[in-house]
Amino acid sequence: MTLNDLNIPEKICQQCILPGTFPGIKFNNSGICKYCQKESLSKQTKVIKKKSDYRDRLDSLIKDIQGTAPAYDIIVAFSGGKDSSYTLKLLKDYYDLRIIALTFDNHFVSPVAFDNIKNVTDKLKVDSLIIRPPWSVLNEIFSLTSKKDIFSKPTLLRASSICTACIGMVKSIVLKTALEMSIPLVGFGWSPGQAPIQSAILKTNPSLIKPNQEALKKAYPQDLLATLNSYFVPQTYFEKFKDSFPHNIHPLAFFDYDEEKIKQELRSIGWQAPEDTDTNSSNCLINAFANKCHISRHGFHPYVWEIANMVRQGIMTRDEGLIKIYTEQNTKMVAYAEEKLT
Ligand SMILES: [Zn+2]
Repeated sequence: MTLNDLNIPEKICQQCILPGTFPGIKFNNSGICKYCQKESLSKQTKVIKKKSDYRDRLDSLIKDIQGTAPAYDIIVAFSGGKDSSYTLKLLKDYYDLRIIALTFDNHFVSPVAFDNIKNVTDKLKVDSLIIRPPWSVLNEIFSLTSKKDIFSKPTLLRASSICTACIGMVKSIVLKTALEMSIPLVGFGWSPGQAPIQSAILKTNPSLIKPNQEALKKAYPQDLLATLNSYFVPQTYFEKFKDSFPHNIHPLAFFDYDEEKIKQELRSIGWQAPEDTDTNSSNCLINAFANKCHISRHGFHPYVWEIANMVRQGIMTRDEGLIKIYTEQNTKMVAYAEEKLT
């Protein structure tokens, strides 16, 4: 893959990779976007300090919590992809937590990702729980969101509607399981570009979760919502478990993040990079189609915000970012998902 093979837009930030089609973007005379202009060197120094503060905070939170729950210290949303596999390894190796890894099988998990799920949880000696709603449910959700943007406008800047629907289910199911099993921590493998450090350690509570869940529910048509209700946190839980809502953590925001090093470390626990996924996923076979739907409706790639953040933070080079975002979606993969959905 060379840069000549990419579909790089004419108007694009010369520092990160945000395109002129990104909603609300402005460039200065040197072609630098408003987000890059805000990012100063002093801010980067502050981020390094912040990262070490967050590591201290997590150390002390874990010290308080470890061993207090009946069975597990943490439930981790585990897709079998690179980032959640690495998060699992970090939590096991570094903190030696009692972990249950929850995998949401959305019927588009790549076969290699399934091998990774088994190998990684075996090697790390972690319990694995796979939840797989029937195909009819996911077919309906993905068919709907492939054609229509049902969620709020701001979500479209960060992810495709297909992804938002799927991740919404993952978050609900993980939280519901944490409450039911009295697990005090919930772990996610968000990359440092995906979620800001400010939310990397967050105590959840009913008044935080309830409105989010309501907004998500409102987006769905009534008949589909009736089917989906069993995956959301039941209303009664907000009262019943009000004092035992977990802390959410996403440690990749404040631990070192280097894609090549991560892949190398993961190989030592039996993880392999799948060859059948797109440039922005290492587990999901609907992602290429989801990206294509989003690009054709909105004129920008649903991962460009995340990747531009990582380029700006110096986590990846601009050229690496360009390849991730401006490579044509693999037509075979797009067709695979398109044909599977009805
Ligand atoms: Zn920029």
